[in-house]
Amino acid sequence: MPRLKMLEHAVLVVSTFMGWLYAQPPAASPAKPDSDAVKALIEKAKKAGGPMWAGEEHFFCEAPRANSPNDPPIEPTKIFDNVYVIGNQGTVVYVIETSDGLLMIDSLGANQVESQLLPGFQKLGLDPAKVKMIVMGHGHGDHFGGSPYMQEHYGSKVYISAADWDLMEHPPAGRGGEKKAPAVLPKHDQVVVEGQPIVLGDFRMMPVSIPGHTPGSMGYIFDVKDNGKTRVAAMYGGTILTPGIISDAGLQTYLKSVAHFKDETRKAKVEVELQNHPLMDPIQPKLDKLKARQKGQQNPFVVGTANYQRFVDVMAACTEVNIARRAE
Ligand SMILES: [Zn+2]
Repeated sequence: MPRLKMLEHAVLVVSTFMGWLYAQPPAASPAKPDSDAVKALIEKAKKAGGPMWAGEEHFFCEAPRANSPNDPPIEPTKIFDNVYVIGNQGTVVYVIETSDGLLMIDSLGANQVESQLLPGFQKLGLDPAKVKMIVMGHGHGDHFGGSPYMQEHYGSKVYISAADWDLMEHPPAGRGGEKKAPAVLPKHDQVVVEGQPIVLGDFRMMPVSIPGHTPGSMGYIFDVKDNGKTRVAAMYGGTILTPGIISDAGLQTYLKSVAHFKDETRKAKVEVELQNHPLMDPIQPKLDKLKARQKGQQNPFVVGTANYQRFVDVMAACTEVNIARRAE
């Protein structure tokens, strides 16, 4: 192959691989300044979020970015009596301790098992062999990539929605029509269905179907304990970080899903905000606060029921901004 061709080929292979792994390339810079109509929608989003979610509003409405392999690792931390977090500032997994072993939400990327996932377990004094279940937010490699290792070595059961098993097992061709590099997949295992609780020992989580980022994205609602007190937590497992690659229909579906999730989290009185890509609400400052927490001070992951609803409102409001931007 001539040198230039070889280089082109290498670039294609690398970009194809990254496309699979991160699936959310950086947003293109806006082609033109926002119209008055879009600016009005941005004001609406700012009002919806208030001071608490100003950073989230800025991320989703003005400065989105994808997670990256270079996001700095976080200190593996116990954030609730029964919940631990491992990973990096762009992508994390939650490990939940139950009366019958561990349940993990997501599993990081395949190339982060040795560098972040297993060292995290060790640092926290947790035994990865006790992971009985891995429940996925959605079927992209930065979430399911670590699961084949866990399935093979520890017999962890892997839970994904039917639509996202299908997405993983029959990935669509890339945007240029090229075939993507095949990912190492977990063996076809358990199926997550909205409204069918996932139970391990004394722990139970409720899946909520939120298609948009992928056809089978799932959110989860579950109890955590903070110094013995039960709190209701939720994680939106299919957040669109950069809207650029999502189709118009996809954004409309996403808007409906966010509304559905708002409904379910309101009914469940969710007051704890957890994310698998905590970019819109940075996790490191919360971990710092937790470390310095004095008796009687609030856990920084507990935002309260009203503020949780506002967090979801900003996701909806900024999706409307992105839809309006595109229509112009
Ligand atoms: Zn994804």
